[in-house]
This record gives sequence, structure tokens and C-alpha cells, in this order.
Amino acid sequence: MKIKFLGTGTSQGIPVIGCKCLVCKSNKKEDKRLRSSVIISVLNKKILIDTGPDLRQQSLKNNINKIDYVLYTHAHRDHVSGIDELRSFNFIQKKEIKAFGNKELVNQLKKDFSYIFSDFKYPGLPNIELTSIEKTFYIENVKIIPIRVKHHKLNILGYRINNLTYITDAKTINDNELKKIDGSEILVINCLQVKEHLSHLNLNEMLKLVSKINVNKVYLTHISHNLGLHHKVNKKLPKKIKLAYDNLELNL
Ligand SMILES: [Zn+2]
Ligand SMILES: [Zn+2]
Ligand SMILES: [Zn+2]
Repeated sequence: MKIKFLGTGTSQGIPVIGCKCLVCKSNKKEDKRLRSSVIISVLNKKILIDTGPDLRQQSLKNNINKIDYVLYTHAHRDHVSGIDELRSFNFIQKKEIKAFGNKELVNQLKKDFSYIFSDFKYPGLPNIELTSIEKTFYIENVKIIPIRVKHHKLNILGYRINNLTYITDAKTINDNELKKIDGSEILVINCLQVKEHLSHLNLNEMLKLVSKINVNKVYLTHISHNLGLHHKVNKKLPKKIKLAYDNLELNL
């Protein structure tokens, strides 16, 4: 199994339009972050998590020419607004793409992108079969465990796929859901910035949460320019925790 980070930035990405801070002005590739998304290769299948606004350039940059399934975390724009780009994969694959999310996500997507999900289909629209899931399910022979997390007041999902757990935009995770992450080889989790934030884990909250779970390695995503320079922040983190960066690929 492989995971590739297509984007590791928060909603505005890095650099932020018009910002002159050290991080936004950095020339290092690790300090440039598109909106958060990953693609997972398992048993010859490609599973994309979220379709953010950068999906087109992420697909071109990483030579992605196949997407079998999409797992959605939640319906905020930085995670869904590239949904139309799935058309390109429909055209190549000549069939629908199956997508999954919780009922909040399914209802919101059907409202916000009604043209995609209406009975009358204009020719050339994305062809997506959207299913609401709450409990463990299988795609092909791959077991997918949804992890319920809170994004301020919104119920959103993370996912465990074999030994990999991917969680973004969490603010809190209850002990029951934390148990589902236990034993993962790799945990990907959001870490926005140093200062506290209403709806996202900050650095200290992430550290506290990670200390409660038994995982080998932790990679941070959904990062804002306020977290600091990639290389500087990485040096200060405990050994098993690292910042992810765009185009990083990990084997499991
Ligand atoms: Zn987000
Ligand atoms: Zn900045
Ligand atoms: Zn969000």
C-alpha cells in the first residue's frame, strides 16, 4: 500500500495570496502547500481522499490518470470544490466513480452541486455514485473504518485503511474513536498552527492527542503559514512526528 500527499495546506494554501511572511516567501518546496488531499494505492485500486480546489493541478503534477474511489471527510470548500475534475477520470474510465461520506456530507454535496446529482443530467457532467456510510465497509477487499471526529460542531470523518489512518480538520476526537486509530503504522492528522483555533487542532492539542494513541509514525497535514517554516518546525517535533509536504510518498 502507498500513500501520496497531493496537498498538505489549510484552506488558503501556502503561499497565501498577498502574504509577505517568511513562510509564504520561502523558496523551499516543502513550504509550498496546495489544499489537503491524498491518493492511496491499494490492491491495484486508487482511492482519493477529498476533491479540493487544486485537484486538476495535483493530478497533472503527479501523473494521476485513474481514480477508482473517493472518500470524503466533509463538505467544506477546500475539500470538495474540485469535484468537477472527476469528469476527466469518468471520460478515461468510461464509468461512474464511487464516492463515500457521512450523511452530512452527502446532503451538503447534493445541495451545493445539485447539477451533478439531479435526475436530469446535462451531457458531460461528473458521473458520481455518492453513498452515505457510517460504519466499517469494504471497497473491493479493502476494509475502510470511518473515524468520527468533531470539526468545531460539525461531524466529519477520518478513515482507517489497513495500517493507515487519515484525519483532517479535527478539533476533538473522543476516546472511543481514538481506539479505532490504535495500532496504525502511520497516522496522518491535521495541525493548523501554534495558536489555538476554534475548529482545528493546534500544535499543543495535536501533541496531546497523539500521546494518547499507540501509532508508529505521525505525519501532519492541513498546515497554515502560521505554523512556521517546514524545516524549523520539524526540528522541534518529537522524533515520531513529522510535517508532511506536497508530493511526499510513503510505503506501508
Ligand atoms: Zn479544511
Ligand atoms: Zn504568509
Ligand atoms: Zn473544514
